[in-house]
Amino acid sequence: MTMKSRQKRIEGMDKKYLWHPFTQMQEWVEQSPLIITEGRGTYIKDARGRWYIDGISSLWVTVHGHRKQEIDTAIKEQLDKISHSTLLGFTNPLAAELAEKLVQITPDGLSRVFYSDNGSTAVEVGLKIAYQYWQQRGVKDKKKFLSLKNAYHGDTIGAVSVGGIDLFHKVYSPLLFKSFKAPSPCCYRCELKKRYPSCSLSCLKQMEKILKRNHGEIAALIIEPLVQGAAGMILSPPRYLKGVQGLCRKYNVLLIADEVATGFGRTGTLFACDHEGVRPDIMCLAKGITAGYLPLAATVTTEKIYRAFLGKYEDLKTFFHGHTYSGNQLACAAALASLNVFRKERTLQKLQTKIDLLEKELDAIAGMPHVGEVRQKGFMVGIELVRDRKTKEPYALEERIGWKVCSRARLKGVLIRPLGDVIVLMPPLSISRDELKSLLRVTGEAIQEITR
Ligand SMILES: *Cc1c(COP(=O)(O)O)cnc(C)c1O
Repeated sequence: MTMKSRQKRIEGMDKKYLWHPFTQMQEWVEQSPLIITEGRGTYIKDARGRWYIDGISSLWVTVHGHRKQEIDTAIKEQLDKISHSTLLGFTNPLAAELAEKLVQITPDGLSRVFYSDNGSTAVEVGLKIAYQYWQQRGVKDKKKFLSLKNAYHGDTIGAVSVGGIDLFHKVYSPLLFKSFKAPSPCCYRCELKKRYPSCSLSCLKQMEKILKRNHGEIAALIIEPLVQGAAGMILSPPRYLKGVQGLCRKYNVLLIADEVATGFGRTGTLFACDHEGVRPDIMCLAKGITAGYLPLAATVTTEKIYRAFLGKYEDLKTFFHGHTYSGNQLACAAALASLNVFRKERTLQKLQTKIDLLEKELDAIAGMPHVGEVRQKGFMVGIELVRDRKTKEPYALEERIGWKVCSRARLKGVLIRPLGDVIVLMPPLSISRDELKSLLRVTGEAIQEITR
């Protein structure tokens, strides 16, 4: 079969049988899909043999680049032993060893690891544990959650219930449980119409009002620490997160840190909580945990929470929850290998100068006439495009300005994906300085050409 006819065949099968995530399929079938067949380092290749910079780490997961030798080898070696055995009733060396490592690297106080296989389930597990914890401590009224506007915690019903992005979540509202919503710490479009720092964190004061009135009913507060990712890389101002922790302690509410996007080096430290010395009661991990190799997630809790689930079987304090692929051995092998790479290559230490370079390169983009704001925390970047810089008036939805910019970048050899009008850059932490410069140059050109 020729290359061309093979591509046609793949495209045909895709359009006939596949249903893509977060995709309007009516439009999808009218276009020619990009077929990805290979990857190496920062680059991925399409079926026509063209190479692109993977500017979003294949949806925020590829940490050390594609086909990282050490991780490839770890998985291959594990294949020769066993790929999967269940954690229901048995254990395995990799799940146990990874649990120990995760406890060592996550903030102090976190000491127990519960595995699942994606970010949404890591969040579901965190919510259910928090709820059941209070029930078993005899605090029966704490049944609700406090979450933030603009939050994204995944797509399952529980995760959507604590989500706050109307565009994705509104249609499901009759299915959801009610949760309290605190303001988003979004300074560019402050919903309280204040300005940082003269606001002295009014959004925290609003949060406190909710807690003061309702803490007796609130089991936990869930938050994406420092960066509300899916909402468009909204950065919380300094000390906000620390303030949230203070309020949780004051009002006796558990703090769930959803580090699914921010974890594993994304913000410049291993976890976003590390920036402000925050110690959550529950931490959710997924995306970067296997460096983009296999689905794996973990919900890490304190010993105090864990102990509330101990008792005789007939006490029915068991956490009755589990996923078939929990602690999958191949996935754990990949995660362990990734952590080894972090240590051996001093990934985070080397990242710092690249973060500085990224910041410098973003300066040029920040000055462009239709760039409303450039937001950066480590290797998480959101570039918000606006029709009018002065009034911050957004582009109309049907203009799809974000999509147009990303399509233009694709023609120039860069793959990125927008969040609405926000251009997202999330390169692998392993990207070289030259590759980083190319990514920024192309992104800048694409923005300029489309918005001019
Ligand atoms: C991506 C994401 C999730 C959901 O993870 P999935 O693996 O897609 O289910 C949850 N929380 C945050 C903060 C995320 O960015």
